[in-house]
Amino acid sequence: MIKINSFSTLVTALLIGSGVAGAFYAQDAKARAAEVDKSFAKFAPGVKTRSDDKYFFVESNGLPDHEMMTGITAWQQQVPLPQKYSGANAWQFPLFPVPAKEPMSAKTNFFRGAIAIAANGVPIFNPIKNDGRTDTFLAGELDEWGGHSGRGDDYHYHIAPVHLQDHLGNGVPVAYALDGYAIYGYSEPDGTIPKDLDAFNGHTTPKLGYHYHATKTYPYLNGGFHGEVTEQGGQVHPQPRATSPREATAPLRGAKVTGFKTIEKGQRYSLTYSLGGESNHVHYQVNPDGSVKFDFEGHDGKVKSETYKGRSERGGGGRGGQRGGEQGGRGQGSGGEVGPPPGPRKPWYVDHAKGLDKNTDGEVTKAEVTDQCKEAFKGYAGTADAIKVDDLPNLRTVRNEIGGFMKVHAKELDQNGDGKITEKETIDTMLRMFDKQDKNSDGKLSGTELEG
Ligand SMILES: [Zn+2]
Ligand SMILES: [Zn+2]
Repeated sequence: MIKINSFSTLVTALLIGSGVAGAFYAQDAKARAAEVDKSFAKFAPGVKTRSDDKYFFVESNGLPDHEMMTGITAWQQQVPLPQKYSGANAWQFPLFPVPAKEPMSAKTNFFRGAIAIAANGVPIFNPIKNDGRTDTFLAGELDEWGGHSGRGDDYHYHIAPVHLQDHLGNGVPVAYALDGYAIYGYSEPDGTIPKDLDAFNGHTTPKLGYHYHATKTYPYLNGGFHGEVTEQGGQVHPQPRATSPREATAPLRGAKVTGFKTIEKGQRYSLTYSLGGESNHVHYQVNPDGSVKFDFEGHDGKVKSETYKGRSERGGGGRGGQRGGEQGGRGQGSGGEVGPPPGPRKPWYVDHAKGLDKNTDGEVTKAEVTDQCKEAFKGYAGTADAIKVDDLPNLRTVRNEIGGFMKVHAKELDQNGDGKITEKETIDTMLRMFDKQDKNSDGKLSGTELEG
């Protein structure tokens, strides 16, 4: 009896002990969450937050209150659509960041997906694009607020959104890096200039501990992660997915986005771009069923309408993070088409690898793609040096992978928007997509690059 008694006393003591420690920890977490929420609460109710003992969660539709897109000189024809960053598809970062044993640089990693989340619920991607080279800011790809829309028609920043400071007030972080450390603006809360920033734009001060700052030149925000993060497939894991009902569009050479209007928040928008000195418009409307109607209004006033059906929700709440921002392989989308079946959609090159791999060695090379481009182009153009965009859908289909692609994507292939498609435009478009899928940039698609 005595033994049992003392044993149960010990257990009780242990239970009380851990209970107390747990309670303290939970209290710490609450206090920390309240601190972190100072940034996000300013953007409620559009931005919602919650936390547990370990993580802080941010929910939003990914669209800021400010206007978007104006000022972009290298436009991919994507537009901002509301996203479902909520529930299991919310943004998250650790409440208590832990310094990493081997901090990872964003110069060599994390070209996919977000590296931080702004106070207004807009994700922030690596300033360097997913080709691992292009500085999006210097390349003219960003609007006046440092953002643009990715291949999922998902709006995101690529530099620190210091303009939010006006709304937040001084001394409140403009964003949080996904390792959990705060990102402050150009100055310290007391207005002084930050000293001795490390390679990741971070430093430690007595008041704030370790934190990052925004800068006007690269790395613009956290240039990597001082804290622990999980890297998976080239991005921080987990993180939400962005999706669009339409397939990714191609860059429109020479176009400049000159205006953007929110007609009805979360529902109706209008974007204006100039091309060859003339103004064109893209009006679009998000319907309650998730479908999106686009009215493409040319400078001649002619309107071409297309409705992209809402896509089925994928299972698992999107924890896979396979669709962040800028890689290929979005949903299907010519007008009136029924959405694709549930389940993740594969990048185009993955779906068509077999038909592209002419020598059947299990790899797709640039030479194989280029050859098939030439074959398909010749099949449509014959001896002419260009194909009219309007003619292409009515021509007899060239039966190879790229022949099929060309027919469905005639407009995207016409990169300079002159109404005609050249062999070079065809090859350029296909190789650009190729490069996106060629994760290790070795000039061929192989191994995991061909897995869905
Ligand atoms: Zn981007
Ligand atoms: Zn500082």
